[in-house]
Amino acid sequence: MIKKVLIANRGEIALRIVRACAEMGVRSAAIYTEPDRYALHVKRADEAYFIGEDPLGGYLDARRIVNLAAETGCDAIHPGYGFLSENAEFSRICNERGIAFIGPSAEVISRMGDKTEARAAMIGAGIPVTPGSDGNLQDLDEALLVAEKLGYPVMLKATSGGGGRGIRRCDTPQELKQQYPRVISEATKAFGSAEVFLEKCIVDPKHIEVQILADKHGNVIHLFERDCSIQRRNQKLIEIAPSPQLSDAQRDYIGDLAVRAAKAVNYENAGTVEFLLTGEDFFFMEMNTRVQVEHTITEAITGVDIVREQIRIAAGLPLRYQQSEIHYRGFALQFRINAEDPKNNFLPSFGKISRYYAPGGPGVRTDTAIYTGYTIPPYFDSMCLKLIVWAMDWEDVLDRGSRALEDMRLQGVKTTASYYQGILHDAEFRSGVFNTSFVVNHPELLNYSEKRHPNDIALAIATAIAAHAGL
Ligand code: ADP
Ligand code: ADP
Ligand code: MG
Repeated sequence: MIKKVLIANRGEIALRIVRACAEMGVRSAAIYTEPDRYALHVKRADEAYFIGEDPLGGYLDARRIVNLAAETGCDAIHPGYGFLSENAEFSRICNERGIAFIGPSAEVISRMGDKTEARAAMIGAGIPVTPGSDGNLQDLDEALLVAEKLGYPVMLKATSGGGGRGIRRCDTPQELKQQYPRVISEATKAFGSAEVFLEKCIVDPKHIEVQILADKHGNVIHLFERDCSIQRRNQKLIEIAPSPQLSDAQRDYIGDLAVRAAKAVNYENAGTVEFLLTGEDFFFMEMNTRVQVEHTITEAITGVDIVREQIRIAAGLPLRYQQSEIHYRGFALQFRINAEDPKNNFLPSFGKISRYYAPGGPGVRTDTAIYTGYTIPPYFDSMCLKLIVWAMDWEDVLDRGSRALEDMRLQGVKTTASYYQGILHDAEFRSGVFNTSFVVNHPELLNYSEKRHPNDIALAIATAIAAHAGL
């Protein structure tokens, strides 16, 4: 079994991994750069190592991190999400040095991280794929020809893109001409690759993704699906498990499809197969070869601890569940609470958390690395907290989400919390039928104001405690 894990990440996901290690009796080693000196993942890990002044540099320095792991006696590295998590070279260096990479092999990462290669692999395996270009585009002329064949609107995408960046919808040849150099420049800056390709734009699709687990012995299972249709600018805001929009037959179909996709590429460890759903058709979109931000809601409905399973798989243990032993119960929602101002075009709002009071009660989980007095550094992602709620029924989970958002106090920075209250009160969302255009189609929700309960007990208690502690 693995004895000590170096966590090559920061923030809430680093803390999530520390917690899994602690429960498994595995030691955890954190890394941090200057702005993270007072970060919670540093305080909570068993050991912590400073990896440089530069805010981002250290977290992206694969060789240095693997050397550090070797020097400090770590036998595994967990990459979390973002940073080096989908960097094939990182997985390869770990392997070379005899350190278990908690994720797939370098070969699988490079194949699935490249969206056109992934599409080719899936077409080969007989998985339905969004219609698109045959591989990467040579130039604008080819792009215009392919777009004409596919029919507008089309999506121009960065081949190695992620996090919702490097994607542009083009409705006309003129737009494609305009966007082509922009996407190339964005892709070069953000992902270090100028490769782009085209997909037919599926209008008003639902984003449905399947969580899978695969061990080193060829066993693959799925943990059902998540509905991530509530997005802004191709970035997920609220995630739901299971999707309230699927029939049981569709659920079985998509689960099987994801398992087939994973088997086709000899996948190993936790992964997510993303699909777009339009009408009755599912199209493969991409595969994320890492733990996902929204793995939490799958944990809530299935009871499986995904990070724990990742560590067991990397240690070479066989999966301990058969597909028939995986069941889901109720509904779970995750709200990505971002330090952004929804009333001001989601402008990032970094700064000091003057007061944080976590929501609680039944069916409530928070994954975050913030605390009262913590200053959110401006160098990283603006997501500062994940609020996860679970309840037996759809209506109940909506009410619980609303109650938990009201329970939470997060002051000092602007957040997306009030916007989510608006969404939870919206009749279309409550009906359980929505697609990826929901956010653009509901601009009125941006100005939603919470009506606070007159007797705000939570706030009163938080204030009293803070006064008592002399904060
Ligand atoms: P998920 O697919 O898990 O919901 P996101 O797509 O929101 O996650 O990405 C998770 C994090 O990883 C975000 O901070 C995002 O900016 C980062 N990320 C994802 N893909 C890439 C990539 N190819 N390059 C750099 N950062 C990425
Ligand atoms: P990322 O790697 O950034 O997660 P994805 O390829 O997963 O990029 O796409 C992100 C989001 O963009 C999807 O969830 C969906 O809302 C939208 N999108 C991507 N491709 C298409 C498409 N062909 N048609 C319509 N929407 C798309
Ligand atoms: Mg995606």
